[in-house]
Amino acid sequence: MVARAVEAERDRTGGVYLDVSPLDFEAEFPDLNAECEKRGVDPDDGIPVAPAEHFLCGGIDVDTEGRASLDRLFAVGECARTGVHGANRLASTSLLEALVWGLRAGEAAAGYEAEEIEAHELLDRDPTLPEGFAEEKSVRLRRVMDEYVGIERDPSELTRAQAVLRRLKGEVDAYTRTRTSRSLYELRGACVTALLVARAAAEQEESRGCHHLVEEPTADAD
Ligand SMILES: Cc1cc2nc3c(=O)[nH]c(=O)nc-3n(C[C@H](O)[C@H](O)[C@H](O)COP(=O)(O)OP(=O)(O)OC[C@H]3O[C@@H](n4cnc5c(N)ncnc54)[C@H](O)[C@@H]3O)c2cc1C
Repeated sequence: MVARAVEAERDRTGGVYLDVSPLDFEAEFPDLNAECEKRGVDPDDGIPVAPAEHFLCGGIDVDTEGRASLDRLFAVGECARTGVHGANRLASTSLLEALVWGLRAGEAAAGYEAEEIEAHELLDRDPTLPEGFAEEKSVRLRRVMDEYVGIERDPSELTRAQAVLRRLKGEVDAYTRTRTSRSLYELRGACVTALLVARAAAEQEESRGCHHLVEEPTADAD
């Protein structure tokens, strides 16, 4: 709710500022104070703020030992769906996940015999990739997710996001067929994840937890 209010106010006025005047900011937050100085922000005038991602909800389905549905794949932490969260994440559950699932998954994984697998060599950067290819696509991916699958969601925008993401994934897939570069594989993983997030959001027809739908304008509205 706060993030939505901040975003609405930013759209309306162009900026939202954190009032730190009740604090001795320089003494209590020296690192942040130095960061403000570096960016030419005077904390006495208020610090400009914007909503940012804090955590992920959902992820890879796991059992009580962190075991995923693929043989020998364990998932712990924010990438996992353990079942302790509802439609939004509870505060400080990362500790629960680290201390409970981390330990259990470690113990369960240690029960398997180690097996040698042949690793494929990945290039950090494939010289045959166009300069800045992965960076440019990843900026586009983030922009689509931010604009259409962010704090406020609109069913028609979720549909548009899926179309853009499918196109983007197609472009990346065309390159991954013949090239082995880390940036490309990571980008493909990001495209698949983004598509799954957008699809799951589109399937959720009512606002719930951190999934907030804006009202679709009705046909007879002004
Ligand atoms: C500002 C902020 C404040 C927070 N405050 C709290 C709080 O007070 N209490 C609380 O419980 N939770 C808090 N959280 C949430 C908590 O920090 C996360 O849920 C938790 O850190 C997730 O742990 P993780 O190990 O799953 O993921 P991460 O901590 O994100 O670790 C993932 C690791 O994988 C590495 N990695 C990524 N890609 C690759 C790759 N391709 N190859 C190799 N390594 C890779 C990353 O560098 C990173 O080290 C906060 C989060 C934020 C952003």
